[in-house]
Amino acid sequence: MIAEIITIGTEITTGSILNTNSKYLANRFLELGIETYYLTSVDDDPKRLKDIFSIALKRSDLIVTTGGLGPTKDDLTKEVISRTLDLPLERDSVMEEKIESIFVNTDRKMTENNRKQAEKPKGADFIENRIGTAPGIFIRHDNKKIVMLPGPPREMKMMFEQGVVPLISEEHIIISKSINTIGIGESSLETQLLKMNLNTKNISVTTFPSEGEVEIKIIAKGKDKTILNNELNLTLARIEDELSDFIYGYDNMGIEKVVTDILKEKKRRLAICESCTGGLIASKITSVPGSSTIFDRCIVSYSNNAKIEELNVSKDTLEKYGAVSEETAYEMAKGLLDKTDVDLVLSITGIAGPDGGTTKKPIGLVYICVMDREKYRIAKCKFSGNRNSIQNRAAIRALDEIRRILLE
Ligand code: ATP
Repeated sequence: MIAEIITIGTEITTGSILNTNSKYLANRFLELGIETYYLTSVDDDPKRLKDIFSIALKRSDLIVTTGGLGPTKDDLTKEVISRTLDLPLERDSVMEEKIESIFVNTDRKMTENNRKQAEKPKGADFIENRIGTAPGIFIRHDNKKIVMLPGPPREMKMMFEQGVVPLISEEHIIISKSINTIGIGESSLETQLLKMNLNTKNISVTTFPSEGEVEIKIIAKGKDKTILNNELNLTLARIEDELSDFIYGYDNMGIEKVVTDILKEKKRRLAICESCTGGLIASKITSVPGSSTIFDRCIVSYSNNAKIEELNVSKDTLEKYGAVSEETAYEMAKGLLDKTDVDLVLSITGIAGPDGGTTKKPIGLVYICVMDREKYRIAKCKFSGNRNSIQNRAAIRALDEIRRILLE
């Protein structure tokens, strides 16, 4: 089945909003084993929408649109699609009453144009919208499936998961598993996976890079759930065998959650001192609910002076080796460990750029030190990208360094 996603709205084509609906749907189609060949965006213009939709009808089996289902006059998706398919719009009295009751319950006045949301093309079904007024539409037409969803991402996602997934994944069973890795680039990872020859009739293995990490996705697609489960578990075991050094978690749990869970389980408390990441690591840790049980403090020791005053880093070390050095990273961690009663500390110092790099110390050079009361480890890393991505990659790698020392 070939899918096409059409995101409708002038806000998208003028760049006023980020088109997150396409990303969400394309990603979900992949998980469902449906191939998406085309992502199209079009403004709120009926003629251009008709053109785009007619092209999609020729080349795709499943067409999902988002946006343009609201009550205002620029919301024309339903009208254009029903005209293109030659299916007249019919008002549904049950839906009309439902929409009316939403307005009564929320103490709002229903205007006449709200009633058009109770219309659907002849032979189509409504997709329930539990959090908004605009229902979605599902049409089977000439062996094609056409789905219309509203634009607001919260409504769109909920309706897609509850109302659309059961209708489009009826022909086969799909199971998927994500394996999350840090410390290996996408191309090396892909090379290793290719060598393992993992893809079969039922199994496909794909990689997705994001800042500082790569996700491996195993998708099992077929008719027999037991066979699929066995094949998926076998593939998982083979990947774990080969790449265990880089795997930190599963199903996109996030490195900060994985680290927090290990700290909780081991009853260890953590303190952090950050230079180049400016508090980003602490922010990631504290985004995990319940992190107060494992997190003590973060000192953002950005200047040399702060490193001396707050962490007792020696002036000599800073002069001799510089703020971005293994020695400074060590002394930052040692200083924090000495002044707190925590079990584990992390220090990080580096050059995020765009200025400040030299041939000896280029932009992206980062030292990470993790230290407990018995041992420490220092990682010298080199990250690429702009300031933002260097900071992000460094923060993710630092969290992985904590995970590694905890599991040593
Ligand atoms: P409504 O009933 O709210 O009018 P609608 O189906 O008519 O719903 P639109 O008017 O096209 O949807 O979009 C409503 C809002 O949804 C937009 O202002 C925007 O914030 C968000 N939105 C629309 N399309 C997208 C998209 N592709 N990605 C992210 N957000 C979107």
